[in-house]
Amino acid sequence: MSFEKLNLIEPIKRSLAEEGYVMPTPIQEQAIPYILKGRDILGCSQTGTGKTAAFAVPILQNLYLEKLSADEREHPRALILSPTRELTIQINESFSIYGKYTGLKNAAYYGGVKMLAQLQSSGYGVDIVVATPGRLTDMMNQGKISLDKIQVLVLDEADKMFDLGFAEDLNKVLQAVPKEIQTLFFSASMPPDMAQFASNILTLPVRIEVAAGTFNAPKIKQAIYFVSQNDKTKLLFHLIEEEEMKSVLIFVNDKKVADKIVEQMNQRGIPSRALHGKKSQNNREQSLAKMKEGHLKVLVATDVLSRGIDIEFLSHVINYDMPREPESYIHRIGRTGRAGAAGFALSFCNKNEMRMMERIEQLNGFKIPIIVNHPFHTNEHYSNEIRTPKPTVRREKAKIIEPEAEALPTMNSTEYVEPVEDEIKKQRRRIVKKDQTLISESGKKTAGKPVKAKK
Ligand code: AMP
Repeated sequence: MSFEKLNLIEPIKRSLAEEGYVMPTPIQEQAIPYILKGRDILGCSQTGTGKTAAFAVPILQNLYLEKLSADEREHPRALILSPTRELTIQINESFSIYGKYTGLKNAAYYGGVKMLAQLQSSGYGVDIVVATPGRLTDMMNQGKISLDKIQVLVLDEADKMFDLGFAEDLNKVLQAVPKEIQTLFFSASMPPDMAQFASNILTLPVRIEVAAGTFNAPKIKQAIYFVSQNDKTKLLFHLIEEEEMKSVLIFVNDKKVADKIVEQMNQRGIPSRALHGKKSQNNREQSLAKMKEGHLKVLVATDVLSRGIDIEFLSHVINYDMPREPESYIHRIGRTGRAGAAGFALSFCNKNEMRMMERIEQLNGFKIPIIVNHPFHTNEHYSNEIRTPKPTVRREKAKIIEPEAEALPTMNSTEYVEPVEDEIKKQRRRIVKKDQTLISESGKKTAGKPVKAKK
């Protein structure tokens, strides 16, 4: 699945693409559509799974789409609580990166630094606050922050917040935010009392579980070379010989071109093989095995087989020919940067391929940088056409698979009927009426005080 299917807005697609994110991680794929719709989330997942973007991206999008004036943005609308100073800084940086084209403002508040200095540096009209519970309650006690306008609350690494003795602070915050807000609850572990606490503060949450270590999303740096068709092979040799390229997958649109490049590579002492529909199954498997074992430096392939190519640590993908469909570009470049390693996707674009490049940029949501600093750069591309890709916003809705309408629904259910908004509101009220339970710092429940007085 590409980010395109998640119906993200242009400013966010652009920053994700610039970060080299090509595909959402499993938790992003599952959580983003629900958070965009305003649903509560119970997430059992650790850092390293792409969790931060899973909540930061839809929060940014929902706030951006409100299009409030500066005056209406006087108080924060999103609050993220995290257990440590380090995680708080990291989450805040992620908001800055993903939100850099949204115009929204975020700030981090944590202990160990003078409060006044922190407040002064964040300034007026912060939309998103990321804070440790201790520092936040200090600020609340001193009247330095208002939580009246909070619409979405994230508890990140909730289990750690309890371990660190933040239960009391958390309860203060929960009392101070408005009653009917969206709550996103993430915890690496979910012992029964944690689940109880979560069910007290969440309304019909969607439950999402992502096991640790399942995430290997690619980070890919993309670049374009403007080159005439006749110079493409020269540019190819130039790059392979000049740059440190360990293992290269070259995409062409024609089998004969693939065979020709392989022949030339081998003549120059660069071990290579071709991978296309005319090669026998046996031959293809041999080529892949040799590449995996490091006996080949270059594979030249056509699109037909691109999805089956899964070679760890493939350092570069080169589009010798621009693909015939923009979507193929995503599949092609997704071959590099596997296993979480950094990868490079370089595309050779002749004058006639400019239109395809623009369509790819539209799909990507940002302009791919053009490398001009090489001996085969040509300006002929600019003579007839001006490079003005117009970003398009896809308006069709993402297809949602809804979970079961149980207290803690699972993602795998098929028979779930979406509770209408009124039903969610009713449920919120019912939860408010429930005799709620406070979790003490030791993790034990103490009956009586509400954890979160939802009205
Ligand atoms: P997190 O679990 O949020 O701490 O993210 C772990 C790492 O994965 C961070 O370095 C992110 O920049 C990176 N990351 C998150 N989402 C993606 C994605 N869709 N593609 C590539 N890298 C990602």
